[in-house]
Amino acid sequence: MTLAYRSTRDPGGDADLGFGEVLLAGLAPDGGLYCPTEIPPLPAITADTSYVEAAVAILEPYVAGTFTADELTTMATEAYRGFRHPDVCPVHDLGHDLHLLDLTRGPTLAFKDLALQLVGRMLEAELHRRGRRVTVIGATSGDTGSAAIEALAGKSNIDVLILHPRGRVSEVQRRQMTTVTAANIHNVAIEGTFDDCQDLVKAAFNDPTLRNEVGLAAVNSINWARVMCQIVYFVTAARAVRPEGGPVSFTVPTGNFGNVLSGWYAKRMGLEVDRLVVASNRNDVLTRFFETGVIEIHTVSPSLSPSMDIQISSNFERLLWEASGRDGRAVAELLGELRAEGRVVVPEHWYGAIRDEFDAERLDDDATVATITAAHAATERVVDPHTAVGLHAAQRHLRPGVPMVSLATADPAKFPDAVERALGRRPQLPAHLAEILTKAERFEPMANDLDQVSNKLRSIGR
Ligand SMILES: *Cc1c(COP(=O)(O)O)cnc(C)c1O
Repeated sequence: MTLAYRSTRDPGGDADLGFGEVLLAGLAPDGGLYCPTEIPPLPAITADTSYVEAAVAILEPYVAGTFTADELTTMATEAYRGFRHPDVCPVHDLGHDLHLLDLTRGPTLAFKDLALQLVGRMLEAELHRRGRRVTVIGATSGDTGSAAIEALAGKSNIDVLILHPRGRVSEVQRRQMTTVTAANIHNVAIEGTFDDCQDLVKAAFNDPTLRNEVGLAAVNSINWARVMCQIVYFVTAARAVRPEGGPVSFTVPTGNFGNVLSGWYAKRMGLEVDRLVVASNRNDVLTRFFETGVIEIHTVSPSLSPSMDIQISSNFERLLWEASGRDGRAVAELLGELRAEGRVVVPEHWYGAIRDEFDAERLDDDATVATITAAHAATERVVDPHTAVGLHAAQRHLRPGVPMVSLATADPAKFPDAVERALGRRPQLPAHLAEILTKAERFEPMANDLDQVSNKLRSIGR
């Protein structure tokens, strides 16, 4: 049996697709996001199941018809072999019913490796089967670019062009991208902001000639395959914390709503989840929505947790679609109004359904620094500013008798300035990353100009 996927803006469901198409397409042609039309039941997983075994059991129904369990096992084994912990995603007990799910042990030290290491392998295999090649284009303010580059470097049927805003990403983040020597990796430093980079990517996708000529593809977090891969660690963490079963809550430092949405899917598959706590920094569009039922876009304001500096949380559309009773027409209308007005009131019964399952919390930069200091004093652990935003929210939403798992999304070494403010010293980079500080860099400076980016795409994409 294969599972069908539907766009969140599809009024009828006549255009349902299989996993392979969804993997390659990323965004649906109508501008919506692909979602599974059925949610498979949770397979039997215990505290003794290995991470790879859990991944195969959970993901198999989602990819049926595209990959077999054997193919999935091979890809997942390779994807998680390089993680610097035998459990892949270890869980640390912080005491008083609070636990830290450590998602930072992948090659680029941020949670995006968990999905991208596997998605990169799926993409390569599916392209190979279809005899196709693509050019992946992406804009990054830091973590996404390096995770995508690390996942796709050396793949024979994929070229990668990553745009970053010149001088506006941290040195560690830039070097993680620009010191990769694989011939299929291309870095461009745009004279502009992250938003300019993102606009260039959108403009490239909106040019059908260019899109077909170079076979453009995207691996940003709107790709269903990424959300799907992240379901796995919610399940393994719940089993680690409560081997005998029983409800667990999760707190997730949130930007594009991809990570916490994976927790919601885990719950819908049958995992006993009490609360899902959405933690944001001062860019709190989601927290304001959970408080009021109104989505209102403000301008993005830079914070100590830059990977959460987002006003439009793309993946939220998937939750709206489910809350609407999968009414693609109503979702398209609502998002049209949001785009036109910058503000929209979500229908009362959608809001009610969402409010029942989530809590939300915001934290400013000073409180983030104070949390890094306090967490270190209490546990001797150094956490990064994104993780700190989550930890603070987790503490506020602890309920007696329900273990709370807070997600650690990046290694503190990626954000040395915030850590120095909190602890008076800079964290050390792990050995395999320390060497990038002296390696030669490769990137091309470029004006904020679509023609130049298009020419670059044509020159690498054939
Ligand atoms: C991307 C990122 C986030 C936000 O995750 P979403 O899935 O976009 O909500 C949080 N923390 C870190 C370190 C990240 O890189």
